[in-house]
Amino acid sequence: MSILVTGGTGYIGSHTVVELLNKGYDVVIVDNLCNSKLEVLNRIFKITGKTPRFYKVDVRYEEELRPIFEKEKITDIIHFAGLKSVGESVKFPELYEENNVGSSKVLLKLMSEFKVHNLVFSSSATVYGVPKHVPLMEDDPVGGCTNPYGQTKLDIEYLLKDYAKEHKDANIAILRYFNPIGAHQSGLIGEDPQGIPNNLMPYITQVAVGKREFLNVWGNDYHTIDGTGVRDYIHVLDLADGHLAALRKLAEKPGLVIYNLGTGRGTSVLELVAAFEKASGVKIKYVIGPRRSGDVDENYADVTKAKREMNWESKYNIEDACRDSWRWQKNNPNGYDE
Ligand code: NAD
Ligand code: UDP
Repeated sequence: MSILVTGGTGYIGSHTVVELLNKGYDVVIVDNLCNSKLEVLNRIFKITGKTPRFYKVDVRYEEELRPIFEKEKITDIIHFAGLKSVGESVKFPELYEENNVGSSKVLLKLMSEFKVHNLVFSSSATVYGVPKHVPLMEDDPVGGCTNPYGQTKLDIEYLLKDYAKEHKDANIAILRYFNPIGAHQSGLIGEDPQGIPNNLMPYITQVAVGKREFLNVWGNDYHTIDGTGVRDYIHVLDLADGHLAALRKLAEKPGLVIYNLGTGRGTSVLELVAAFEKASGVKIKYVIGPRRSGDVDENYADVTKAKREMNWESKYNIEDACRDSWRWQKNNPNGYDE
């Protein structure tokens, strides 16, 4: 009775593993460490007093993953492993296809062979493309992805739908995350981007800790409350909890289900900056720049389906998330590289 967590040493994976261990699940992680560090395992032990079994495995390669299915008694899988940089995906679309879609195909092949029925998949709000309206609902049209990364998430969703049609005993939860931010309250694990952060929150925390001079605000002429882009920022601990809710849902044998994981509330860039300043007491210098290509005005979730069907909803607000992101960054100015 083990949960296989692919990409379990990554940002969202590590927080989910902590929640799983705290709830008494037996956890097996596979990760090729292309975007995470082994130090994460020590931190997980410091928080939970437990160490999940870890295998350095590239999920793309069946010969690496197969022994894990042979050795472990896997009942459920949470599939986080994947590359996630939008900019990098534009430069290397084949790599994104091979890594994200390729590894999902290998995973499904072994799932089928070893009769593992339950899978939770990390999808993204990016599958909705340019929203025609907000809040976004699960049955809104998908497609028109603005970058190859988003396209891989959509391709995997289609792959999972085909798989569920062919495997009547499969239970699959596709979770479409909105914008994960925050960190564990211990300050021991958090987001550790390599190089210059693309995403807003790690950029803000790096300005706060003195690693970057100022924040570029990408555009202030959007049709939003203050002209800056509006997103649905969700605390990573709420997201982690959403995966446990999904596992409970899969135990009811629902077949394939899709849920948005967000807060249902939109926050602008300047509102997030203000919330961060309030939570940290640190002033964030920013400069208004041009729009970033591919960005949309507003993007936030309708979260009623997850509440209705999984009894899950977010608990933390933006200030909580800012406080926790800041604690992580302040305690670990260089991430896991001390
Ligand atoms: P992350 O990069 O921190 O974690 C992903 C992990 O997967 C890393 O530890 C990496 O080493 C591992 N990995 C990548 N390719 C692998 C492979 N072929 N074999 C084995 N391990 C591999 O990213 P995250 O923010 O924790 O995201 C987790 C998942 O959630 C990803 O699939 C991502 O696309 C998805 N997602 C993330 C966000 C976000 O903003 N963070 C939003 C929506 C969806
Ligand atoms: N953003 C910004 N400066 C940055 C990074 C992001 O102004 O350095 C804005 C971006 O234009 C968007 C919001 O912050 O409106 C969230 O961007 P992020 O890349 O974090 O997430 P996205 O929703 O684009 O995936």
